[in-house]
Amino acid sequence: MENFICIQCGTQFDETAQPPSFCPTCEDERQFVHHGGQQWTTLEQLAADHHNRIEDEASHLLGIGTEPEFAIGQRALLLQSPGGNLLWDCISLLDDKTIAEVNARGGIRAISHPHFYSSMIEWSERFDAQIFLHAADREWVMRKSPRIQFWEGTALSLWGGLTLINCGGHFEGGTVLHWLAVAGGCRSKGALLTGDIITVVQDRRYVSFMRSYPNLIPLGSPAIRRIVERIEPFSFDQIYGGWWEANVLADGKAAIARSAERYLRAISV
Ligand SMILES: [Zn+2]
Ligand SMILES: [Zn+2]
Repeated sequence: MENFICIQCGTQFDETAQPPSFCPTCEDERQFVHHGGQQWTTLEQLAADHHNRIEDEASHLLGIGTEPEFAIGQRALLLQSPGGNLLWDCISLLDDKTIAEVNARGGIRAISHPHFYSSMIEWSERFDAQIFLHAADREWVMRKSPRIQFWEGTALSLWGGLTLINCGGHFEGGTVLHWLAVAGGCRSKGALLTGDIITVVQDRRYVSFMRSYPNLIPLGSPAIRRIVERIEPFSFDQIYGGWWEANVLADGKAAIARSAERYLRAISV
């Protein structure tokens, strides 16, 4: 029996003797099955020729991403907080070196919004961590576990000034994390961790929002307005996206406002 991993989206599945017949995420219109056909790997195979790059993205924010690039290529962020560390998003590869590096920084209390579900259950079991996932994305969970706590509503307050905000858009359960100002730190005005729910683009004064990134399907104006409304009550200066250095380091709230305005103008008829 094996927990197979889809090589296109990086999601690990419930234990089976044979690889699953298909990947529901990759067959959705937002993702894709590689033209060479559906392929699978395992954590053991992945660890044989990949490793994790572990590097600070900012103070108290450790980036963890797989090299050579695997599946969607995102990096996770280990947010180090006095009340317990939170792993924002997740990646498929978990190896001994990564476990040691994370433990040296205090382990993981909870994993949240692993929109890139990857091997989230492996990570949660290894670090004895809880997973917070919005209930609207329940159908996309391919490996079940009592460690997943599904939450509902528009916001969920965690600990130490951390709040999950359901923005929807790309996926109904799409969530961003607000991190309140760190007293005395450089992040004095708060930050938003967004993955690909709000995507930091190449011009880092802007972000964008899509139903599908690989297939270039835009969102409609109600979805864009809802994202802007949901983050409105929160103050922040920085935005950390889902990939290495995809970060807006200043004036983040204005960046979202001007990006939403530009987007709405582009899709209006
Ligand atoms: Zn897949
Ligand atoms: Zn996505």
